[in-house]
Amino acid sequence: MLAFLRSLANAFELGQCWSCGCSSAGADSLCPYCDEALPRWYPRCCQHLSDIDQHLPEEQRRCRYWYGALRWEPQVQHLVTLFKFRNKSELAPLLANQLAAHLLRCYRNQALPDCIVAVPMTEQAWRRRGFHQTALLARYLSVVLQVPYITGGLRKIRSVPMQHMASQSLRWENSQRSQLALRDFTGYTVAVVDDVLSTGATMMAAADALYKKGAKAVDAWAVVYNQHD
Ligand SMILES: [Zn+2]
Repeated sequence: MLAFLRSLANAFELGQCWSCGCSSAGADSLCPYCDEALPRWYPRCCQHLSDIDQHLPEEQRRCRYWYGALRWEPQVQHLVTLFKFRNKSELAPLLANQLAAHLLRCYRNQALPDCIVAVPMTEQAWRRRGFHQTALLARYLSVVLQVPYITGGLRKIRSVPMQHMASQSLRWENSQRSQLALRDFTGYTVAVVDDVLSTGATMMAAADALYKKGAKAVDAWAVVYNQHD
């Protein structure tokens, strides 16, 4: 009986909702209620990161736009925890689609960037997790948005436990020169994809590396934007 119900669910492409566990979700998806209830940001630049930008020294190149789709609230935290720490890589299309829908509204009056790169992770972290979560998101985004994804565009060259550092200024200092761009990006506008955007330090390090290799502009894209007050 159970097997039959399962096959019936498969026939109609019904699956379990990743959020509430009910069985009225589409395959690898959320049920209509949870989808509607996802806490989303308005399609505009992340406020506190744009503000930080304005206080940077003149010589420091900055991200052109900061975009994050979802708010760091319990329903979203649950999805991100499953994705990052419980090895649920199947969540990548769902999360990437949320970001893609957000970005299409953010860029409605202008062209999307020329290419996408993913925030790099160390080989050690990659092995531990079993998959490269930002690269996976970037690949799905590339397909949905029809923007080329540059594999291995950035590399992490120094592992610093930034999230555990007390002061913001220390984090910024340590994040500098922590990434290296491996291609020539001369004249390109480049979007950098991350899962969660918080202090902006990781994105600034990516932008720094990309500008050094000639990028014209760097945009920061993240599935989740965790705003600090
Ligand atoms: Zn649900």
